[in-house]
Amino acid sequence: MSKEQSFLDQARIRLLYYGFFLIFVALGALYLNVYFQNQKMLADTALFLMGSVAVLFKYLTWRPDWRSAAHALLIIGTLVNASLVYASMQTVNIITVQVIIIVIVFSYYMLGQQWGLMYSLLNTVPVLVFMIIEYNSGYIISIKPNKVDQSTIIISLFANFILLIFIHSHFYTAFLKNIRHLKNSSREQARLYSKMETAIEKAEKSAQAKSEFLSIMSHEIRTPLNAVIGMSNLLMMSNPRPDQRENLEILKFSANNLLAIVNDVLDFSKIESGKVVFENIRFNLVELMNNICGGQILKAEEKGLLFKLDVDSSLRDKVLFGDPTRITQIIFNLVSNAIKFTPQGNIWVRVTCVEDRHNTVTVNFSVRDTGIGIEKENLESIFEPFTQESLATTREYGGTGLGLAIVKRLLELQELQMTVNSTMGRGSEFSFHMEFPVSTEVLPVVVTAPETKQFSENPLACLRVLIAEDNMVNVMLMKKLLSKWSINPTIAENGERAVEFMQYGNFDIILMDLQMPVMNGFDAAKEIRKMADPKKSGIPIIALTASALFDIKEQVYEAGMNDYVSKPFKPDELLEKLNNYTLNKVG
Ligand code: ADP
Repeated sequence: MSKEQSFLDQARIRLLYYGFFLIFVALGALYLNVYFQNQKMLADTALFLMGSVAVLFKYLTWRPDWRSAAHALLIIGTLVNASLVYASMQTVNIITVQVIIIVIVFSYYMLGQQWGLMYSLLNTVPVLVFMIIEYNSGYIISIKPNKVDQSTIIISLFANFILLIFIHSHFYTAFLKNIRHLKNSSREQARLYSKMETAIEKAEKSAQAKSEFLSIMSHEIRTPLNAVIGMSNLLMMSNPRPDQRENLEILKFSANNLLAIVNDVLDFSKIESGKVVFENIRFNLVELMNNICGGQILKAEEKGLLFKLDVDSSLRDKVLFGDPTRITQIIFNLVSNAIKFTPQGNIWVRVTCVEDRHNTVTVNFSVRDTGIGIEKENLESIFEPFTQESLATTREYGGTGLGLAIVKRLLELQELQMTVNSTMGRGSEFSFHMEFPVSTEVLPVVVTAPETKQFSENPLACLRVLIAEDNMVNVMLMKKLLSKWSINPTIAENGERAVEFMQYGNFDIILMDLQMPVMNGFDAAKEIRKMADPKKSGIPIIALTASALFDIKEQVYEAGMNDYVSKPFKPDELLEKLNNYTLNKVG
């Protein structure tokens, strides 16, 4: 009996073995009894039955197919019952009743509801029919019935009772065992369930800890990295020798590369921990695509690639609602990959309007290249974090394998899906649909910004700049940078000091770090905006954000600051902002 069989099936097989033995012994006793009474027909029947039981027993030891054995036994029982009633005995007595009860009980226990009912009917109906016929017409066939003496009846009765008791007690034990087993397994299940819950809780906590660790580490790495990039910018501005310039270029390139990786890790861990909130602000898709691809076109051209940007002209005058920062991130990643993995040929970025309804548009973004292509079996795995197509890719192109993972997660969070088509050696296409609500407003006339001014005459020389910054390396960097434009800034080491400086001094602009001890940049800006003197409360404040995260922007504006530059700031960007916010006053 194999362990996989249920308790009930095991009981059924056991019942058949013991049952065969009991029936065999009972039939043997009966045979001897009727044989010595010279009841030939009954003796032959008993002998035939003993043979059948022996064959079935042998069959069961050869193959434990208890179902077939039970059917065979029940069919024999039914035939014997019918032949006893209709032929050899031609009467219904207590033995008939016992046999019927045994068949009913046995068939239900062994074969279940349906077969049980069938064998019960097969055994009871002929007996009832016999009784009705006998009631009306005496003997029904011409064979003279056997006269059975008292000893045969006693042996049969005794054997049948034993069989009945055995079947019941055997199944009762099996049922009890089964119930106990079910109880045990449900207890075991509950134990496993609670174990599983603890494991899930642990896994969630460790995932949380991992993403917090990543986020803190990336943040901590960014700070010194900012200093490295800032310093190389400063050195670049101090007329280095050509060989020094080359080294500085490499230094700056590597530091920027490292920064991009750290930003990716930071962003990915943020997405994974579910902290991403999508903005819903007005923007124009044509402008946005021009901005995203502007820098990329140069990169592509440097590599000798042809870069084509096609944006559906119907989107030109539409103001859409959405999250331009996240779209930038997605397209930027796809275009960067296209450039990176295309040694020659072209890159084609297309934005087509798929459906233009009354107040929404569905847009298809597609980035196609004629690059190295991706193997079919890798088309899914490349979207896994830290996964690249092959080791050769890592060796040849570098990268972290995070870009597409970020893209995929960003799309999934908006219930969107990326489609990839690629042929090895011929190129790849990444595309996805996105739906945008359309604003009813007409796109305001864009006032073209005045040409970038030449600041050679140094119009900022007398600018009074207050810098709120706690990190001494950053302070030194800022001072050096501003000194290039002959600005001598005042330094406040935290937000509270910045507010004090504002109360007692006069400044034209504040550069405000956001994370500072005592009072952070947001609170300091709010305090300044509350000042009674409109000159002071209206002072331009530019936030200095160390964070690469995009949602900081909203917080900056909410705190009343005018603008932000993210560290490490590009000298040109900072200069432009200083000019934009102060030139009127100073000039
Ligand atoms: P990374 O660019 O840092 O390697 P990504 O997640 O952006 O990481 O891309 C994962 C992998 O997918 C890449 O390493 C590259 O093997 C494959 N891949 C992505 N874009 C392209 C493309 N345009 N052409 C060929 N392979 C690509």
